[in-house]
Amino acid sequence: MSKGIALAKSMSGKEVHEKSRNSTGERVPLRIAKPHAMRVVGLHKCYRKKGVEVPVLKGVSLDIEEGKFTAIVGHSGSGKSTLLHLLGTLDAPDSGEIWYDGIRIDSLGTKQRDRLRNRTFGMIFQFYHLLPELTTLENVLVPRMVECSAWRYWLSRRMYADRAKELLDRVGLSHRLNHKPNQLSGGEMQRAAIARALISQPKLLLADEPTGNLDRENGEVVMETLLGLCRDENLTIIMVTHDEEIAKTADQTIRLVDGVVA
Ligand code: ADP
Ligand code: MG
Repeated sequence: MSKGIALAKSMSGKEVHEKSRNSTGERVPLRIAKPHAMRVVGLHKCYRKKGVEVPVLKGVSLDIEEGKFTAIVGHSGSGKSTLLHLLGTLDAPDSGEIWYDGIRIDSLGTKQRDRLRNRTFGMIFQFYHLLPELTTLENVLVPRMVECSAWRYWLSRRMYADRAKELLDRVGLSHRLNHKPNQLSGGEMQRAAIARALISQPKLLLADEPTGNLDRENGEVVMETLLGLCRDENLTIIMVTHDEEIAKTADQTIRLVDGVVA
């Protein structure tokens, strides 16, 4: 098997038994590559401000295992959000590769990226980004409205609403279905955002400081809710956090220092 095929297969989530020859020429298993949900190789990103180049990521490489919780930590300004945005295809790197489930995603076209974000990735941000004119239930349904044709949405509307209500129940908001975001607390808004991120049954959840705007008590409720739901739905989680206590609960912690993984 060529190296390229072995690499692609290892990134497609299936175990690859690579073979090598021993001293007598027999083919023997070299190693069993672990299935990776995501593999990042040599990522570079530089911002340009008024003609000045600000290098942020200087060759970031990492592997994310399927079904595991990975925390990304680092000082403010170390490039955590930049990295998360690249992983979520919200922005493109200057160079390097991002692979997800055997597919290179950093160079996908706009339509394919949109589809990946709508169907496979769920995202949560520090400031919730709920639409102020919509109710909690409608906010949770937005990804489905965006993803489907009007006709398909209409046909499936009851099924989608049932899933939205079930998720809102799981995050403790079944008594807030018809409230607007300005009638919710910060913790409630973030729990609504969690339900919205999970409505399309994603496989990978990307979260940028989801507790960063909450007090400790509400932060703990949000984390408990998030991790419980992700476990039940067997999600892979990549979470940026400045909270070392949260990072301690992760299966893997990635520390960004000076634009690389320390
Ligand atoms: P963190 O999330 O670790 O606090 P960020 O990824 O937000 O860090 O930012 C890393 C660096 O990149 C910072 O110096 C920030 O000012 C700069 N930066 C982030 N986004 C942009 C942008 N859109 N344009 C220019 N500079 C940016
Ligand atoms: Mg940030």
